[in-house]
Amino acid sequence: MPRRSSTFKPETLVRPVIRRLQAYVPGEQPKIKGLVKLNTNENPYGPAPEVLEALRSATDGRLRLYPNPTAERLRIKLAQFHQCAPENIIVGNGSDELLALASRAFVEPLTGLTQYALQCAASKADRPLLRRAAFGRTGARGVLTPSRYAVQYLDPSYSLYPVLAGMHGAWPRAVPLPPDFSVPSVAALEESGWDSRAALSYITTPHAPSGREVSRALLASLSRSQNGVLVLDEAYVDFADADALQLALEHPNVLVSRTFSKAYSLCFLRVGYMVGHPALISALDKIRDSYNVNGLAQVAAEATLGALPYYKKNFARIIRSREYLANALNELDFQVLPSQTNFLLAAPPRLSAESWLARLREEKILVRWFSAPAIRDYLRITVGSEDQIEELLRAVKTILARG
Ligand SMILES: *Cc1c(COP(=O)(O)O)cnc(C)c1O
Repeated sequence: MPRRSSTFKPETLVRPVIRRLQAYVPGEQPKIKGLVKLNTNENPYGPAPEVLEALRSATDGRLRLYPNPTAERLRIKLAQFHQCAPENIIVGNGSDELLALASRAFVEPLTGLTQYALQCAASKADRPLLRRAAFGRTGARGVLTPSRYAVQYLDPSYSLYPVLAGMHGAWPRAVPLPPDFSVPSVAALEESGWDSRAALSYITTPHAPSGREVSRALLASLSRSQNGVLVLDEAYVDFADADALQLALEHPNVLVSRTFSKAYSLCFLRVGYMVGHPALISALDKIRDSYNVNGLAQVAAEATLGALPYYKKNFARIIRSREYLANALNELDFQVLPSQTNFLLAAPPRLSAESWLARLREEKILVRWFSAPAIRDYLRITVGSEDQIEELLRAVKTILARG
């Protein structure tokens, strides 16, 4: 029996990198009924009737069976959809899972340096062994360049990226965007500290949380100039004029990440996927859980791909609502950024954005506010249904009238 003193702190059992980690904060899923929920970019319209029917008829005694481990049928359908091979595709438990797998598969954790220190301290006889354990056969040189440890992303962007870097023990590198959140050119990015050799770079396109378009030309030149893996996170691309999926099929270092959550109304079931070179895809495949995508999620995603006209109509409806809401808020003195997504980033008038968050909540409207300096003057507002938009505008006018 090991003896522990009465002052033993169980926290000391947790790796320092995890103890220091600032966890990701998801948007609130309120328990109170009757709130207009415009805080997590969910689709205001439900899945297609065929999808619900497929889920219902899959819900029987077969729930006792394990699902297909590689989501094979779904990958075949996605390959047809994107005109590539099933080997170009991996499906995940939400795209968040795949974003996390990417940092594990492509980035050397900084704990490698600890191993290096060990190597220096070791006896001569141990050195070759330790050297191989720490650096593989290529030797210390390549591994010791800082870029091998770097996970790079724009600031602001999806706040999960730094968390993924942190939990892996990678070197998180935030590259600041200009105040209008536009991404002008690779040269301008490099001026701000962008590293063309970073092991892994995440770009949200269209950009979140601004909603702005990232130009195809820029994404193409980044694909060419980046030595490491470039993940293009297209979580909102179905609401945009253009996508960059082709870059993942043209460049062996580019992965495009997609999700069924936002555009395809399946947040609840957690299903996303990545498209890219089979060498990268199979690396991710090696380290995922054997049954990472649950059976009902596979059924729903397959049925979704059989009901695309329903969703295309939804996208058009949400885009129309987005433009209507942007105009209406502009007329109420909000500064609204142009959006290619299903949300708007808007700087509200008179009160601070944080106060607006609280006032809107009193009016039963839930939006998102981030305390990060670059975006603390903005609210992020999901484009809801036509009715939800009218309720939001009514609440805004009430708050403005109160002064
Ligand atoms: C919502 C979101 C995701 C996560 O999607 P899931 O498939 O639900 O995990 C990824 N990236 C961005 C930028 C998002 O906003």
